[in-house]
Amino acid sequence: MENLTPEQETFLADLFPSDALLLRPEQTAVFSTDASRLRAAPLAVVRPKNREQVAELLHWAHSERIPIYPRARGTGTVGNAVPAKPGIVISMLAMNRILDIDDRDFVAVVEPGVVTGDLQRTVSERNMFYPPDPASSGFSTVGGNVSTCAGGLRAVKYGVTRDYVLGLEAILPGGRALRSGGRAHKDVVGLDLTRLFVGSAGKLGVITELTLKLLPKPETTASVLAGFPDIRRAMDGAAAIFRAGMLPAALEFMDKATLTALDIAGTSPLPKEAQAALLVRVDGSEAVVNAETDRLQAALQKARPVHLMTGRDENEEALWDVRRGISPASFHLKPDKLGEDIAVPRGKVAEAVEGVHAIAAKYNLTIMCFGHLGDGNIHVNTMYNASWPEEADNAAMAKGEIFRLALSLGGSISGEHGTGLTKAAYVDLQLDADQQALMADIKRIFDPHGIMNPGKGW
Ligand SMILES: Cc1cc2nc3c(=O)[nH]c(=O)nc-3n(C[C@H](O)[C@H](O)[C@H](O)COP(=O)(O)OP(=O)(O)OC[C@H]3O[C@@H](n4cnc5c(N)ncnc54)[C@H](O)[C@@H]3O)c2cc1C
Repeated sequence: MENLTPEQETFLADLFPSDALLLRPEQTAVFSTDASRLRAAPLAVVRPKNREQVAELLHWAHSERIPIYPRARGTGTVGNAVPAKPGIVISMLAMNRILDIDDRDFVAVVEPGVVTGDLQRTVSERNMFYPPDPASSGFSTVGGNVSTCAGGLRAVKYGVTRDYVLGLEAILPGGRALRSGGRAHKDVVGLDLTRLFVGSAGKLGVITELTLKLLPKPETTASVLAGFPDIRRAMDGAAAIFRAGMLPAALEFMDKATLTALDIAGTSPLPKEAQAALLVRVDGSEAVVNAETDRLQAALQKARPVHLMTGRDENEEALWDVRRGISPASFHLKPDKLGEDIAVPRGKVAEAVEGVHAIAAKYNLTIMCFGHLGDGNIHVNTMYNASWPEEADNAAMAKGEIFRLALSLGGSISGEHGTGLTKAAYVDLQLDADQQALMADIKRIFDPHGIMNPGKGW
C-alpha cells in the first residue's frame, strides 16, 4: 500500500476531526522517527482522546489490514516507534490524564500518555513514590515505559517498570478491549496477561489505561561519586558495597572513555587520575541515610579511590548531572554513535567491560561503557564518524562482537531498550527457533493479521 484511498481518508477524518488527523508530509514528518534517528514516513497520524476512538480505529484497521504504530514521545533508541512499513501512527499523547491516585491502595490509575516525571512529582506531593526511573523520565511516558519495560537508575533496589504494573486496559486489533489485573497488589489467577503487555513494544494492542503500584516515599537520599585508577578497582568498590550488606538505590559506573568525554565537555568534577568512577545513591529515613552514607564511604575506601565526593540536599543532584551529561558529552568524541545496552550477570560486568575494550582496540574505535552496574546493564556507546566508510564498517562489526560477548557471558543483547529495528537482525543470536515460534503464535492470537507495529523482528 503506497497511499490511503479517498474512502480510507474519509473514515479517518470522520473519526479524528480537526487536528487529531495529520496527513500532509510536513505534519507527519516528526512522527516518522524516534531517538534511533531511523526514519520512515507514515501514511497518516491520528491523535485519539479516548478509548472509543482507539477501539473504532483498531476495528477498522483490522478489517482493512492496515499497519498501526503506537507512539508516545518517540524517545525509544531502537526504532520501535518508526513506521517501518506504510501504515498509521497512533500518537497517545492526548490521552494523558492522571485518573486517580489512591494513598490507601497505593496505586495510581493513569492514561498512557502521562509523562513519567509528571507522575513521579504528583505522587511525591502525596508522600508516595513511583520508583521506575529511566534517565528519560523527564520526557518519556508511562505508556512508552510499560511497552518497553523501561529500566533505569533505581532498578538495582526497586526493580524495573514490570514490577509496578498491576493492571491495564488495552484495545486489541478488531476493537475488543482487554482489561487485566487491577488494584490488588497480588493476583495469581490464570496467566499474567498484564505482564505479557509489559515490554511488548506495541505489538499486541494499544494500551489505553494503566494501574500502577506506588510505594511510600523515602524521607531522604544521599549520593557518593568515587573515582578510581582503573575499572577493576571500581568493580572492587561495587563488590565491597554489596559485601557490606548494603543495597543502594542506584549504582552507576563510568569507564575511562566516558570520563574522557565528560572531561572534554567540562562536566566532570573528578581529577585526571580517575580512569573509572562509581556513582551511588542511598535512600531511606534521615537516620538510615546518615548511617548508610558512612558505611558506603567506608566500603568504597576499601578499593582505594583516588577521589570521593558526597552530595546531600542541594549538592546531591549536581553529582547526578554528571551522569545525565554523558549522552550529550559523548558527541565530543565522534559525531555518530551506535548505542547498545547489553546486560550480563552482575558478577561478569568487569569481564564484559574489559571484553568491550578489547573489541574497541581490535577495531581501533572509541567505545564508552557506563550505566547500571547494580543490575549488570551496560550502556555500550560505539563512537564513530559515519562519513568515514572504514570506521563505519568497523563500528558495525564491533556491534555484532559486543552482542556475542554479552551472550557468551550468560547475558542479553538488550537489558532495557529492546530490539526494534536496530537489533532485529541480531535476535536470532539470543532466541532459538522454538522460542521465536512460540512468541509468533502468541502474537497471532492477539493480532491475527499482523497489523500491530510490524517489521520489528518478531
Ligand atoms: C536520553 C535518553 C535516556 C534514556 N534512558 C533510558 C533508561 O534509563 N532506561 C530505559 O529503559 N530507556 C531509556 N531510554 C529509552 C526510552 O526513553 C524508553 O524506551 C522509553 O520507555 C520510551 O518511552 P516513549 O514515551 O518515548 O515511547 P516511544 O519511544 O514513543 O515508544 C516506545 C514503544 O512503546 C510503544 N508504545 C508507546 N505507547 C504505547 C501504547 N499506549 N500502547 C502500546 N504501545 C505503546 C511504541 O509502539 C514503541 O514500541 C532513554 C532514551 C533517551 C533518549
